[in-house]
Amino acid sequence: TASSSSSSAQPLRILLRVRPFLPSEAASSGAPCVSLVDGYPGSEVTVKLKDQYTSRSEHYNLDAFFGQENSVSEIFDREVSPLIPGIFEGTNATVFAYGATGSGKTFTMQGTEDCPGLIPLAVSTILDLARCTGTWCCVDISYYEVYMERCYDLLEPKAKEIMALEDKDGNLQLKGLCWTPVQSMEEFEELYSIGVQRRKVAHTGLNDVSSRSHAVFSVRVSTSVVKGKLNLIDLAGSEDNRRTMNQGIRLQESSKINQSLLALSNVISALNTNERKIPYRGSKLTRILQDSLGGSSCAVMIACLNPAEYQEAVNTICVAAPSRHI
Ligand code: ADP
Ligand code: MG
Repeated sequence: TASSSSSSAQPLRILLRVRPFLPSEAASSGAPCVSLVDGYPGSEVTVKLKDQYTSRSEHYNLDAFFGQENSVSEIFDREVSPLIPGIFEGTNATVFAYGATGSGKTFTMQGTEDCPGLIPLAVSTILDLARCTGTWCCVDISYYEVYMERCYDLLEPKAKEIMALEDKDGNLQLKGLCWTPVQSMEEFEELYSIGVQRRKVAHTGLNDVSSRSHAVFSVRVSTSVVKGKLNLIDLAGSEDNRRTMNQGIRLQESSKINQSLLALSNVISALNTNERKIPYRGSKLTRILQDSLGGSSCAVMIACLNPAEYQEAVNTICVAAPSRHI
């Protein structure tokens, strides 16, 4: 079963998620390269790391571990569902899927028809709660992509570029981002599937941009008193882009991906160690998310691991839990 400590209003939770083997991987590999040995999430967790030749145990201070036998709906119930009442009271929260391409980020956030991801599960729970409040309550959604430090609205035709402008307090605001009200899962699914489709075709000529851009889905709840929002983010693939000998546009892309993931990991690490100054200004993404990361907001980082990729898994764990290494 999954292991996790209680999640009551912790500012930042860090989870490891090892996806199941794909049929093609199962034949060649026995055990996943990362597995839970034992421990108490929230304090010390022992993880077994295994490559072709050796295996060793390492200790990390993680908040939860979800292995191959755990479903996305368990992650939702334990880690995302507890954030939702706060959204109705005006708190913001952010859930990230971090990890290399192929580690299961999109499966976790978006899901498939048979196996809904955290995004549809969250919207469904929020719509149910909104129906029960008995007072006026509006639920609306936005969905945009950050690619090469530029933002594209996936709920607008042709994924229109939107400008991020600084307001008088120095916060970045997305000018003209489309927020669309939804009242039912049918309405949500129709809008969201168009956005997902747009994400695939927006950058014609460039192969598989979706693994090299961040997709930010937000669901906002407005009552007559407060507004709160939940961001659910499928981050760009974290593979080491400097080492893949990219050229031209790929090289530019790589340096922007590295820069923005580094900026995010710096923010995570500063939140993790309770630093007073959080370095939001390192990238567009961290600047846009400033109102939903740190302060009174809750964040959950899901470090996604491919069970068949040892070195990648080690790199991901090093970013997700460096300051928590015991
Ligand atoms: P990423 O978005 O990180 O590149 P994907 O979400 O596309 O990775 O996942 C890679 C592959 O693994 C896909 O074929 C996906 O369907 C499969 N996969 C990921 N997570 C799971 C899971 N929990 N159960 C079954 N298949 C999964
Ligand atoms: Mg993906």
